[in-house]
Amino acid sequence: MLSIQSKLPQTGTTIFTVMSALANECGAINLSQGFPNFPSSSRLTELVAQYMREGYNQYAPMPGVPELRAQIAAKIHHLYQIEVDPDQEITVTAGATQALFTAIAAFVSAGDEVIIVEPAYDSYGPSIEVMGAQVVPYQLGAPDYQIDWEAFAKLITPSTRMIIINTPHNPTGSILEAEDLQKLDQLTRDTEILVLSDEVYEHLIYDKEQHQSILRYPALRSRSLAVYSFGKTFHNTGWKIGYCVAPPELMKEFRKVHQFNVFSVNTPMQYALAKFMESPEEYLSLSTFFQEKRDFFLAEMKGSSLRPLACRGTYFHLFDYSAISELPEHEFAIWMTKNIGVAAIPVSAFYHQQKSDRVIRLCFAKTNDTLEQAAVLLQKL
Ligand code: PMP
Ligand code: GLN
Repeated sequence: MLSIQSKLPQTGTTIFTVMSALANECGAINLSQGFPNFPSSSRLTELVAQYMREGYNQYAPMPGVPELRAQIAAKIHHLYQIEVDPDQEITVTAGATQALFTAIAAFVSAGDEVIIVEPAYDSYGPSIEVMGAQVVPYQLGAPDYQIDWEAFAKLITPSTRMIIINTPHNPTGSILEAEDLQKLDQLTRDTEILVLSDEVYEHLIYDKEQHQSILRYPALRSRSLAVYSFGKTFHNTGWKIGYCVAPPELMKEFRKVHQFNVFSVNTPMQYALAKFMESPEEYLSLSTFFQEKRDFFLAEMKGSSLRPLACRGTYFHLFDYSAISELPEHEFAIWMTKNIGVAAIPVSAFYHQQKSDRVIRLCFAKTNDTLEQAAVLLQKL
């Protein structure tokens, strides 16, 4: 008999897989896992087909197709007014998940500590632990989920190797402001600490707020790896394409791992994305598009016993159900899927330790028909 010593003894199947499977099993409307239920642009899918037909079907260059990296650099310049060298500072990845994992594997070693902000996207913890490093959670609290930087600073020790931030923030919909980035800059200056900045929702920011990319802050940028996802931007989460931006000395180490982790990413899709990105309006229109969805869903939910929290970014909305049930979040999400017919994500799944603020996350990246039908069901609560 093999005796297997798990490297991740506390890790089960991700909540997104669990809740989507339950939604399918129950025939419930799936507002749990974050993905759009409307199609990606037909022009973009047609471009993929065209590049496939034209024979762009062999390995892409290891760091990504040059045309795509050039378009990414142009987008960064357009959005954040900075120059990024596409040859040395950008690598195309198999989604943001692989970029996050690769960045952690490249820089975090056994015995290191990595500070994450909880509730935290569920891939961070296991990616750190599998390296033999320790997760140090900073816990945000409902309902406003703001970082108290004085309390945060107390978590830093001589073993701190990396800090992971995420703005706009999944699952809370909160965002970091310029002041937060300035505080992070002060905390990390003259240290060996790297910052991993998860910015997959950079375009999904509402009410005329400005996304505070780490790339806007030169000192922070020099110690940071920033991670993005085309799945979020162009409504095709199943394509699993993203990218990482980092200064040359960090990118050099990132690529050492990337080349043996995945080597390179789907060639025809990279060419198609490069062509598609020649029109910046494709991503510039996103905040208006999703803000309308957020507002439509909120209007449909008006009067519901589920109390909405603030949503300043992402395509997730938190709702407090304390007026309805005393069940812990996981049980409530399962109960709601089975009995009301709408699947949600319990926010407790994004914390290391047991916690229940009686808050669930609903994804509003859905057609208005789906949002309307879900709201009718949720109004019964
Ligand atoms: N980070 C965050 C905060 C996310 O919500 C997600 C999932 N969408 C990812 C990373 C992973 O992105 P991808 O699907 O491109 O791997
Ligand atoms: N990012 C998505 C979410 O938060 C899901 C990603 C996944 O299923 N791995 O729902």
